[in-house]
Amino acid sequence: MSISVRNLSKHYDKQKAVDSISFEAKPGRILGFLGPNGAGKSTTMRMLTGYLKPTSGEAEIVSKNIITHALEVKNHIGYLPENTPLYTDMYVKEFLSFVGQTYQLKNLSKRIAEVIELVGLTPEQHKKIGMLSKGYRQRVGLAQAIIHNPDVLILDEPTSGLDPNQLVDIRALITELGRNKTVIISTHIMQEVEAICDDIIIINKGKIVASDSLMGIKKANNDSPLEDIFRKFTV
Ligand code: ADP
Repeated sequence: MSISVRNLSKHYDKQKAVDSISFEAKPGRILGFLGPNGAGKSTTMRMLTGYLKPTSGEAEIVSKNIITHALEVKNHIGYLPENTPLYTDMYVKEFLSFVGQTYQLKNLSKRIAEVIELVGLTPEQHKKIGMLSKGYRQRVGLAQAIIHNPDVLILDEPTSGLDPNQLVDIRALITELGRNKTVIISTHIMQEVEAICDDIIIINKGKIVASDSLMGIKKANNDSPLEDIFRKFTV
């Protein structure tokens, strides 16, 4: 199991932003992490990626505890945060070189060329990040997430704000990456879940209210549209 979460919680004063959630995620599958705004998706992702300390509970990434083996865990995870904070004054390659150095990657120039090709940044590779469109910035975000070839990818709303053509491209890329990695993706777009996810978890008010394969949850709900199933679990 690449990701194993047990009774993980995050409290802000009295608010239980994430309330004792448990789940697992497997390699070669894309897990859709769904829930209304404020449900606790980003908080969960930030705990798994080591940016936020859990109040209680445990999680392991590739069998390593996220607290006691935080540095090792970081090497196994690629993270695309919501509203990717990028250095807009840096050139694309300069930024990727900076990220690659933090992982002490060997043959960095070759790896940068590979990820640029992989995420479809080739035509824009000589530009400053600040000059790029939202779709291309998102590709830079994905490139930095995969540069160290992590086993696990955690992508927080990777397609928000993209136009329809960019959506198709980025979804295809995530699907491709999901073939041999464990991917968790949060999204509000149900067509996206139908298009790329194998498994889904629905989180509401900090608690997991549904957890199944996409086919499983559809079957259990008379093949209703996913929008209806989502509404049923999150009212
Ligand atoms: P989602 O990603 O599902 O939209 P979040 O994980 O961002 O939800 O937020 C879950 C809840 O935790 C929300 O009610 C949010 O207001 C609250 N929250 C998130 N970060 C903080 C923080 N730093 N301090 C206090 N409350 C927070």
